[in-house]
Amino acid sequence: MKFTKDYSAEIDRLKKEIQTADAIVIGAGAGLSTAAGFTYSGERLQKYFADFVEKYGFHDMYSGGFYPFPTPEEQWAYWSRYIYINRYMDVDNGTYKRLFELVKDKDYFVITTNVDHQFQKAGFDKHRLFYTQGDYGLWQCSEPCHQKTYDNEETVRAMFETQKDMRVPSELVPHCPVCGKPMSMNLRADDTFVEDEGWHRAGERYDEFLRRHDGLHILFLELGVGMNTPVIIKYPFWKMTYANPKAVYACLNFGEAYAPDEISERSICINGDIREVLNALV
Ligand SMILES: [Zn+2]
Repeated sequence: MKFTKDYSAEIDRLKKEIQTADAIVIGAGAGLSTAAGFTYSGERLQKYFADFVEKYGFHDMYSGGFYPFPTPEEQWAYWSRYIYINRYMDVDNGTYKRLFELVKDKDYFVITTNVDHQFQKAGFDKHRLFYTQGDYGLWQCSEPCHQKTYDNEETVRAMFETQKDMRVPSELVPHCPVCGKPMSMNLRADDTFVEDEGWHRAGERYDEFLRRHDGLHILFLELGVGMNTPVIIKYPFWKMTYANPKAVYACLNFGEAYAPDEISERSICINGDIREVLNALV
């Protein structure tokens, strides 16, 4: 395994790779959004969920997301805050925009496990994005009785504004327009996840992008991808780099940047705050 050597030398190498690559495939995980200011514990948790923390003892926003709340009114009071502050509110400290500055004139494609919509907010072309795990801004039938997703912005904003005593008004609780069962988040948590038409098209575009650049000088730029779901981004990036002698793999990850021996000669590993690294690159 290869770990960071000289920090500034690695930054210079990455800068050169970004400039000279025929194409850049960005793979982004939770660490990128953390660097952008989307923290799910500490101050932000206290600020928006103090009542839920007191009642249930949650230590971060994720744990509340899968809690079996006693009523749908309470469940949606929780989720509407969660969605609002992580999807609709402006939090980004410029991290995503800096990344966009770096690649906007290149032939790029993004694959991400993040569900917070920040790539599009920063200006990335939505036809060059594949959100594999869903989107906070979408609902689906919880069953699901059909493979379609629904934009939730209007209802979530109303829930956020009108909730009282940890409950949303009952008339705002969403139900499937087809079967009447409760709606749920379009997030991949189990096998009920709906892969709608947009999801399939994005997946096809990603495959097609990889096919079109096969054998060329591709930079696989991985940002903040941990070991929770390595089969979506990290392992495929390693394999594709190994299979293409012209490809280069770059891994930016605070404390966890490494590459396997087989591709270490063509790897750039930077163990640092992603925001600072992107600032240094721009
Ligand atoms: Zn349904």
